[in-house]
Amino acid sequence: MQLNFIANTAQPSASGQTIAVIDPSDGQPFDAIQRSNAADMDAAVRAARHCFDSSWQKFSAAERGKLLMRLSQRVAQGVDELTLLEQRDCGKPTRQARADALALARYFEFYAGACDKLHGDTIPYMDGYSVLTWREPHGVTGHVIPWNYPMQIFGRSVGGALAAGNACVVKPAEDACLSLIRVAQMAAEVGFPAGAINIVTGYGHEVGDALAHHPGIDHISFTGSPAVGTLIAQVAAERHCPVTLELGGKSPQIVFADADLDAALPAIVNAIVQNAGQTCSAGSRLLVEQSIYEALLVRLGALFEALKAGPASLDLDLGPLIRQSQQQRVWDFLSDAQAANIPMVAQGQVVDAAPETGFYQAPTLLRDVPVTHRLAQQEIFGPVLCVMAFRDEDHAVELANATRFGLVAGVWTNDGARQFRMARRVHSGQVFINNYGAGGGVELPFGGVKSSGYGREKGLEALHSFTTLKTVAFRHG
Ligand code: NAD
Repeated sequence: MQLNFIANTAQPSASGQTIAVIDPSDGQPFDAIQRSNAADMDAAVRAARHCFDSSWQKFSAAERGKLLMRLSQRVAQGVDELTLLEQRDCGKPTRQARADALALARYFEFYAGACDKLHGDTIPYMDGYSVLTWREPHGVTGHVIPWNYPMQIFGRSVGGALAAGNACVVKPAEDACLSLIRVAQMAAEVGFPAGAINIVTGYGHEVGDALAHHPGIDHISFTGSPAVGTLIAQVAAERHCPVTLELGGKSPQIVFADADLDAALPAIVNAIVQNAGQTCSAGSRLLVEQSIYEALLVRLGALFEALKAGPASLDLDLGPLIRQSQQQRVWDFLSDAQAANIPMVAQGQVVDAAPETGFYQAPTLLRDVPVTHRLAQQEIFGPVLCVMAFRDEDHAVELANATRFGLVAGVWTNDGARQFRMARRVHSGQVFINNYGAGGGVELPFGGVKSSGYGREKGLEALHSFTTLKTVAFRHG
């Protein structure tokens, strides 16, 4: 049984209730988390405030950096343990779970080094005046985390907030809490003061909502669906609490006829099967120049047919989806495709060793998907790639920008001038040219436009979100 982690102590919820933890690979419960309520959230916010006021804000930037570095090293030592936890809790194949744990260590390392590089400016002003700016922490920051990449999102969000000097209250997704509770324990082990990192588990509409409403939260970092992002922003607006929204995507991969397909095709496949397609930046739409459309589909179809889904421990191309309702959601999209006579080019397989009670979905390649169909407009959040053809560059841009989202775009072409034009014309927070998110990009600012959200996390840019700027003007004669 897992408990909340508040002020460096394990605490049961005041509700006395728990939520079963299900292994997506076999659909069976194997643990339980606390079903927390507003009283638990209040305890966590009070602990964070006390920590901020009494100790955390007195740490120098260099001291915060040293602690974050110790946490990075502790996480790196515990990679095997965290990998196993994440694999079981989220159904991630071993390589993916391990990559997430390593990314977490890397986020802490990056933000450890960033703490004492964050500073304000001096500003030339009228004669007899000196003006300077300070970057001050908000105080207590709230972090609402989704289930698809708990460790990575904790790293970028909580890592940045701690580096900037905030105390954090974290609400993980109800489907993915175990690794984050363990990381908070590791933080206590390496010397983070009680209340610097607090974890409160439970349902979004209960304890997530309590976080959004709590007057003691000075900034909210929300990563999740556009619908819940809207709710959080509305609640926060009532008390003018700043919010960063990292929401969904329907990201296009755009392939021109001159592209290096040997490089492009594996990246295109990976971008939709990684984490079983449950990735905000999944390359879920493939736009292909008409002249190579048929030939590319033949090659891509063969790659899809070779893909295997199965239990996380088998470490195949993909594991199960997170839960039964997510599996049903993907099935509903695929039924719609059938009803609309959208042709299926190829499908991978679910291996025989996969228990029937697990939440599996074979990777699926669909062609000629009309741009207005919901398959081409909404996040499916499963391993389903929708392909469509474009005539020329203008048409490619029109299709790429034809959804409510604007998170990531991939562009594959060897024409240098076109690379720049496309990067300018595609409306999204990130554009990858001849790669798709290679290297993880801890250092690179990340976020969306339109319904993909606003504000940026990752990189040094995140530190601006996690601080507020104070201008101080001196008159000295
Ligand atoms: P979700 O919106 O259902 O849940 C996200 C978090 O919000 C969870 O912790 C949940 O418990 C909480 N929540 C739910 N209802 C709430 C409420 N009323 N008040 C407060 N909190 C509430 O999203 P999900 O299904 O966990 O994650 C998938 C979504 O996240 C996708 O849309 C995906 O694209 C997006 N995502 C975006 C990024 C990014 O960086 N842009 C990264 C990962 C995931």
